[in-house]
Amino acid sequence: MKIYNTLTKQKEEFVPLEEGKVKMYVCGPTVYNLIHIGNARPMIVFDTVRRYMEHKGLEVNFVSNFTDVDDKIIKKAMEEGVDAQIISERYIEECKKDMEGLNVKPATTHPLATKEIDGMVDMISTLIKKRYAYPAADGTVYYRTRSFQGYGKLSHKNLDDLQGGNRSLLVSGEEQKEDPLDFVLWKPRKAGEPAWHSPWCDGRPGWHIECSVMSKKYLGEEIDIHAGGEDLIFPHHENEIAQSEAANGKTFARYWMHNAFLNIDNKKMSKSAGNFFTVRDISKKYDLQVLRFFMLSAHYRSPLNFSADLMEAAKNGLERIRTAAERLQELIAKATLSELRESEEISLKEAEKFWEKFEEAMEDDFNTADAIAAIFELVKFSNTNADSESSKVYIQALYRQLTEMADICGLILESRKEILDQDIEALIQERQEARKAKNFARADEIRQQLLEQGIILEDTREGVKWKRA
Ligand code: AMP
Ligand code: ZN
Repeated sequence: MKIYNTLTKQKEEFVPLEEGKVKMYVCGPTVYNLIHIGNARPMIVFDTVRRYMEHKGLEVNFVSNFTDVDDKIIKKAMEEGVDAQIISERYIEECKKDMEGLNVKPATTHPLATKEIDGMVDMISTLIKKRYAYPAADGTVYYRTRSFQGYGKLSHKNLDDLQGGNRSLLVSGEEQKEDPLDFVLWKPRKAGEPAWHSPWCDGRPGWHIECSVMSKKYLGEEIDIHAGGEDLIFPHHENEIAQSEAANGKTFARYWMHNAFLNIDNKKMSKSAGNFFTVRDISKKYDLQVLRFFMLSAHYRSPLNFSADLMEAAKNGLERIRTAAERLQELIAKATLSELRESEEISLKEAEKFWEKFEEAMEDDFNTADAIAAIFELVKFSNTNADSESSKVYIQALYRQLTEMADICGLILESRKEILDQDIEALIQERQEARKAKNFARADEIRQQLLEQGIILEDTREGVKWKRA
């Protein structure tokens, strides 16, 4: 299995630290709003990497954090007049619902930054002791960037270029830095903001330290794969390397994987640019499996432009695979001959070549575009070769192969069945009862479940009204 490593700019044979096991960390979202479909790209891509590795029999310890303390979360909390924790908890729940809709498996562990402050204080203390960091007069702690020999090795930047760029970026209050390149590990509290005790001042961590600490705690000092979107290469991942390797004295991660951007009109989709769709927006129009299929139709290191046309193409493509799977299921139900014929045995041997193509594509740095092409070839093959004369064993073998390939891609082949009016009414009734019992979690869950099936609820004075989207 070959993986493109950002660190070496090469495809390398993947050899895990411990045979049969993979330690993998993926930087997760900052939870201050519903996630947009750009954020969904790394989720889908690295979930597919995980699924393929599991298919190969590797045991994957998959850790992905939620950044639950950050300027944007605090700003939103202030706007709503609630605690930051209310905001982060709300959007973690919402994010998990979107992940479920996208069929992204929950991580082995989803650590939260605010629950790992002690570990961060420990690592910062170690860095200060080793002279890789220093506290300034106001209690801010900075990382002494130039003291780390390998700084720039991931982003392939050199310190002098950075120095030129950074000097002009020096903002007020940062004059206390020894060097403009130094970055923040800990910062003092501001009025109204959440804060924790530390030896330097009451305050909160800088963003980069959380991943170094959580990766170490849940996976160990050395891990196999560290991943995220390509905007994280610099400075986030570069700083993580500086922190972890200086503190632990070991290589932090052996393979660095980065997905390219999801764009709109060839510009990165982002909250700040305002050019985004949330996963929730898309779920109103499409089965989220279509979004997953769309994302996997391109290689993860190629930029992908979002458009209505490409989504329609993805919808049709997925539909073709689903129709083939349904047809095979119907044939299985009706098949009368149970013994495999000799000609069918030969045909199944032939169908193995689609497996080989699929695996070859995935082994080559997870080329899901080619893997999906192999699925289409199998679809065509089974549409032509399986019919009402075929034996049950034969059709079952083709069906199994098709569903297994789809499953590695995280694609569910049963299409979403139209929900009946009476089932909707029953769920609305259950939701009303849950609300009466103050079980708002269940009530929200029902609303979401209905939403995923295209049913929109409206709470009015006359009671709950619903409509199909
Ligand atoms: P954030 O919440 O901004 O930290 O982003 C969470 C994850 O989504 C990170 O791995 C980002 O690199 C990734 N990401 C954000 N925007 C995009 C985009 N437009 N395309 C692909 N990945 C993105
Ligand atoms: Zn991170």
